Amino acid sequence: MSSESPARRQRPYGASQGRPRGRYMRRKVCSFCVEKITRIDYKDVARLRRLVTDRGKILKSRATGTCFRHQRAATRAIKRARHLALLPFVAD
Ligand SMILES: [Zn+2]
Repeated sequence: MSSESPARRQRPYGASQGRPRGRYMRRKVCSFCVEKITRIDYKDVARLRRLVTDRGKILKSRATGTCFRHQRAATRAIKRARHLALLPFVAD
């Protein structure tokens, strides 16, 4: 006895497997907008840490979902924090 009937194998609209790719990426929301943070404090290292790689590089807004406005503010905050040695320039 065959376990599958041939008619069953047809899929009308290419059944999606796994995560949706291509056209729609998962919509990321800016974490600062969500928390309604207007000013990004350079002393808020815990928050800024999430926007830099473990090597100390600033992540792209595309990677974090941070909106343009907050990305600009965050970049300034990170640079300021670096200057005060709160964040590393480059950690190796
Ligand atoms: Zn934002």
